[in-house]
Amino acid sequence: PPQPKTKKELLEKRKEIIGSTCQIFYKDDPLLVSRASMQYLYDETGRKYLDCISNVQHVGHCHPTVVSSISNQLANSTCNVRFVSPVLTECAEQILATLPGMDTVIFVNSGSEANDLALRLSRDYTKHFDAIVVDQYVSMKRLNRINTLGLLAYHGHLTTTMQMSPYKFDHGSSIVQPEWVHVAPCPDVYRGKHRLPDAKLKDEAALAEKSVQYSDEVKNIIQKAESSGRGIAMFISEALQSCGGQVLPPAGYFQDVARHVSAHGGLVVIDEVQTGYGRIGSKFWAHQMYEDGFIPDIVTMGKPMGNGFPVSAVVTRRAITDKLGGAVGYFNTYGGNPVACSAVLGVLQVIREENLLEHSQKMGEIFKVELAKIKADHSEVVGDVRGVGLFWGLDLVKNKETREPNVELAAQLILKARQECGVLLSADGPHSNIIKMKPPLCSRCNRSLSHSTRSLIYSIRCIFNQSFTYKSIDLSIKSIAQYLYCYL
Ligand code: PMP
Repeated sequence: PPQPKTKKELLEKRKEIIGSTCQIFYKDDPLLVSRASMQYLYDETGRKYLDCISNVQHVGHCHPTVVSSISNQLANSTCNVRFVSPVLTECAEQILATLPGMDTVIFVNSGSEANDLALRLSRDYTKHFDAIVVDQYVSMKRLNRINTLGLLAYHGHLTTTMQMSPYKFDHGSSIVQPEWVHVAPCPDVYRGKHRLPDAKLKDEAALAEKSVQYSDEVKNIIQKAESSGRGIAMFISEALQSCGGQVLPPAGYFQDVARHVSAHGGLVVIDEVQTGYGRIGSKFWAHQMYEDGFIPDIVTMGKPMGNGFPVSAVVTRRAITDKLGGAVGYFNTYGGNPVACSAVLGVLQVIREENLLEHSQKMGEIFKVELAKIKADHSEVVGDVRGVGLFWGLDLVKNKETREPNVELAAQLILKARQECGVLLSADGPHSNIIKMKPPLCSRCNRSLSHSTRSLIYSIRCIFNQSFTYKSIDLSIKSIAQYLYCYL
């Protein structure tokens, strides 16, 4: 049959044959991607957009090194992991070199599979059954009032990982919070259960105190679970909360949590699906950010590692994988296939050759200074600015004292950023009021080293300045929620 050509026709076809729950960005005017290159996406008219949403095309869309690594291997051979391939072991070795204290890799195809496998590894190893996950502190009553789904801890779309994702459960689907899942408050000192006043948000002593309060919450959950005859197999958390609203946990939090969890026979799993591979700049992994020697038992990874090619992995210790599956073991048809491993090797090569960690760190310093200026200039609506490397969030508020989320402004800024500046942004956090910025790390882009970062900051400043003359734009909460969680 003739293929649809115009955007309108494509959207109609999509509506007809793609499931109605498949979300789409910018529902009122979805973006048709005609091509992509490095930090840019291009629409069908040739208009160029700076892509700060995708966060998968980590070293740049269609980076030639990754493209040739994938295509050379694809033209050579692909096979499943039960055949011997030099690419598999080379890839595993290179990943392990970034994770001291770990010695074993199992490749899978998606972040969801990686987290599901982490659960199974934890259960088989500890002989316990339960999981502790973190959640943003927001009452369901409040969520209902603002009529939006909260974006909270998220670990994937499989049934088990949805059960471990407060973002997904209890939203009217068949997924409800099971008995084996315990929810600890997200260690968010700005918007979480244990908050700091503005003046103390960067105060180390105050942060240390909050860190203990948050890790004690985990300790209490473990004790409560044990008192009712249950045992914790794993604590799982992102290294930095992405869907939870670009949250950086205070220093010491994971160390303390690990102490409590392991004292009770459980494992600590860090989900680096969004945050790994140099996004934070100073380190390859976000859980290494505080350089405090914290080593999780299991690290799960995905998105950036294939630059768009589906590949994920679980990295841990041999003692843990040896207990997996009893006599059945583990087999995954596509996990660890040579083409996927070549994608990873291509990404690692670019990170090394283009010094992307250093680049990310440098860009992070620019973000820090420039976003602080935006916060100072618009202090009435920018409640908090937080981030590191190329992982940033702008927490927009209606009221600085109450920190009431400014969902409307976030939605307006996102629309304007696209329409007027060609910048693609999205919002996150339980209220969708946090503008998140996660551009690709590419440095050898079409222009100078910091071109993208500076143009991004410039655009944000422009739209911020403009937005006050656009206050008349009245986006009702409903249309904003529809826009942010757009269903075709
Ligand atoms: N963990 C985190 C933190 C994620 O952001 C995601 C995807 N958004 C997943 C797990 C699931 O990854 P995938 O979509 O590759 O299954």
